[in-house]
Amino acid sequence: MSMNRRQWLKVTAGMGAGLALADLGVNVQQVHAATRGMKLNGTAEFTSACNFCSCGCGMICHVKDGKLINLEGDPDHIINQGSLCSKGAAMSAVPNSPQRIKKPMYRAPGSAEWKEISWDEAYDRIAHKMKDTREKTWKATEMDGDKQLVVNRTDAIAFLGAAQNTNEECYLITKASRLLGTVNVEHQARL
Ligand code: SF4
Repeated sequence: MSMNRRQWLKVTAGMGAGLALADLGVNVQQVHAATRGMKLNGTAEFTSACNFCSCGCGMICHVKDGKLINLEGDPDHIINQGSLCSKGAAMSAVPNSPQRIKKPMYRAPGSAEWKEISWDEAYDRIAHKMKDTREKTWKATEMDGDKQLVVNRTDAIAFLGAAQNTNEECYLITKASRLLGTVNVEHQARL
């Protein structure tokens, strides 16, 4: 690792302050733990999952005034057991980004403009498109050689799950896919 003069001065000044406090009988670890507690005062704590890759590492997140101010690996999470890679540790840049889109957006066919729509309108549009697609592409039977088999399915709808889905969500996604008559269920980690 290379360091310029300014970085070297910062590091040595920090080390010097730490050593000086220890010389005075101050427990540096306790001070660090106490200041960390102050930072988290008044925050709401949530568990979440990293959104970057298909490992789906668990996180503990602290939110204050609608802003994520601290995140760390969840020690109770079965995948990462408290650790995070450098990408996951820097994830706060995503939820705190001013460019983050928080409302459904719609671009009409042929239009270059995106417009904000309500969640109700978005759900209605998705539901109607799924219904139309299912009706237009429904196969009741299929030939297998000279035998006609009952298949009752559509090949035009697919579900894509993600590492952030819980077991319970995956169960419901699979149920919904079977209910709609598609066997096309895939997962982010296999792509
Ligand atoms: S913390 Fe790293 S390894 Fe874990 S899900 Fe995020 S990007 Fe993937």
